[in-house]
Amino acid sequence: MSRLEYKLLGHVADASKEHQMLESGDKVMVCMSGGKDSYVMLSLLRKIQKRVPFKFDIIAVNLDQGHPGFPGHLLENWLKAEGYQYKMLTQDTYSIVLDKVPEGKTQCSLCSRLRRGILYNAAVELGCTKIALGHHRDDIIETLMLNLLYGGQLKAMPPRLRSQDGRNTVIRPLAYCSEDDVAAYAETVGYPIIPCDLCGTQENLKRQKIKALLHDLNTENPKVKGNMMAAMRNVSPSHLLDLGLRAATGLDPITGELVPPTA
Ligand code: SF4
Repeated sequence: MSRLEYKLLGHVADASKEHQMLESGDKVMVCMSGGKDSYVMLSLLRKIQKRVPFKFDIIAVNLDQGHPGFPGHLLENWLKAEGYQYKMLTQDTYSIVLDKVPEGKTQCSLCSRLRRGILYNAAVELGCTKIALGHHRDDIIETLMLNLLYGGQLKAMPPRLRSQDGRNTVIRPLAYCSEDDVAAYAETVGYPIIPCDLCGTQENLKRQKIKALLHDLNTENPKVKGNMMAAMRNVSPSHLLDLGLRAATGLDPITGELVPPTA
């Protein structure tokens, strides 16, 4: 096992333990976009599956959204050759998005909402107890910054989340893995990556800006990204302005002082 693989497996194991991502009897639907993150997630989960003292199943699921030229066969051939249980879904959301979103406007929000709905339904139909998404550490801190700077909210992406309707549980096994490590691992393995620009939509420009900003800051001080992850585990409700959060954490919402428990 390479040092990089050892490091990534350690991060997945830590994240899984801390957030109870993988549990005995789980059937995990691993969402495969065909991008590097999804391939690495699937490979690492299979390695973890062989090491843990309990049994859980994995099924890789891809959704072809009807983007012209989508080379789903690359992924399917690989899944078959590697012996994974898998399901290839096809649903033309591309036409819906083209129809509904005015030209020049970003299509991502509708496109991903439709994708999420289809995948969440598929998880229920396939009897999956968890849905694994390939977001890594950098996705999480970029989302934190995007919400902070452009959305007026202090929130990121949780490693484990129950969907609002209570039907699905989403997990992010790569939550503690850096994008650089994931990319380096994908490079060494040489997965048949499916390009992510088939839809013709430009990558979210705000996210690109945040990515560049974080890259610059992290070049200056390589601890910046790690510190941001640490900050999300080290929140001081008394030093923020959210009265509801203060109350929920046992503080007086107005004074921020600890409320003694009632007898
Ligand atoms: S980049 Fe393209 S495929 Fe991805 S969410 Fe946006 S519109 Fe959909």
